Amino acid sequence: MQSLLDRFCRYVRIATQADEAAKTYPSSPGQLELGRILLGELQAMGLRDAAQDEHGIVLATMPATRQPHGPTIAWIAHLDTSPETSGHGVKPIVHRNYAGGDIVLPGDVSKVIRAEGNTELAAARGKTLITTDGTTLLGADDKAGVAVIMEAAAHLAAHPEIPHGPVRICFTCDEEIGHGVDHLDLARLGAHVGYTLDGSGAGEIDNETFSADLAVVTIHGVNIHPAIAKGRMVNAVRLAGALLDRMPWTTLSPETTAERDGFLHPYRIEGGVAQATLRILLRDFDTPKLADKAQLLRDLANQLQAEHPGSRIEVSVTPQYRNMAEGLVKEPRAVTFAEEAMRRAGLNPKRTIVRGGTDGSRLTEMGLPTPNLSCGEHNLHSPLEWTCLEEMATAVRVLVELAQVWGEAAS
Ligand SMILES: [Zn+2]
Repeated sequence: MQSLLDRFCRYVRIATQADEAAKTYPSSPGQLELGRILLGELQAMGLRDAAQDEHGIVLATMPATRQPHGPTIAWIAHLDTSPETSGHGVKPIVHRNYAGGDIVLPGDVSKVIRAEGNTELAAARGKTLITTDGTTLLGADDKAGVAVIMEAAAHLAAHPEIPHGPVRICFTCDEEIGHGVDHLDLARLGAHVGYTLDGSGAGEIDNETFSADLAVVTIHGVNIHPAIAKGRMVNAVRLAGALLDRMPWTTLSPETTAERDGFLHPYRIEGGVAQATLRILLRDFDTPKLADKAQLLRDLANQLQAEHPGSRIEVSVTPQYRNMAEGLVKEPRAVTFAEEAMRRAGLNPKRTIVRGGTDGSRLTEMGLPTPNLSCGEHNLHSPLEWTCLEEMATAVRVLVELAQVWGEAAS
């Protein structure tokens, strides 16, 4: 437990916040730095073929300890953290033997993790929690996954008597900005199934994700000095406001939907009188319904453009990822073996849907069935993020079991 905690705290202190505006890959230098540290630690464990490629992806091999053995599996986590909350100067705070109740974060006392509204906190009583001081995110998304994989690898490396199949370890970059697997060569990864360690709580297997498109709405106005604007100015700022006002809000928004309902989520706006841009996430479990959402946007844009001569509104839609359930059907053992590993680790596994995407969504789409496993993440992308050491330790046990379950399988 202590080595897992030390690992986690060491990794979160390295700033690896993804940067959507960057022209480089990976989008921030900290991802390369963390990758280098992990590479050194993997080499020190004696893993084979450990390398960091020119894109910052770290790969290594844990060879099988049994013969014959089942197919190679991959454990995958991402090195970057969300761009939505600062990941610079993370100061992890360890709360041992959590007594229950609200947790006030000392660096910004307006930030309080409230027992009410954080139902998972009740189950964490008596356990060791890790939070930030309230001024940054924690980055348990996904450094909990990184720490869990590293600890499981260290455990297997130190216990060659545990009979398991071959495992590939893979750390990716820029997952949070939708580029986690852009440069990942599946032939080079060489695995039959993958598991991302990037999930909340314990004992859950995400086997369905959203399907996702990104819509960018560009509003072209006409700019002119306000003194002589009468009848001539077309203000893109006002049109952006009007478009937002007409978009569904009391329905079809992340703040008003749950479970299997999709949404349109405007998450960034920038611009001025001459031009304004809205970035809008389109999400649904049912892939064809993404096209309906894009059409809704186009209809609103056309309406507004017709009402305001001189304006021009473009809507461009690009695919981001697809519901992994569509691809997992071709290797059902990806999920059933994870359930078996969780049972062997003393858990009661639960299949869950995730209202988002993971590297696994795209990997599954590319042909590598990759469900997502719990590793103790809570309140992602927020200064109120926290993790539970015992849940991370459970995830380590699950991985150790998983390597054995697949080792026993027919290839
Ligand atoms: Zn993540």
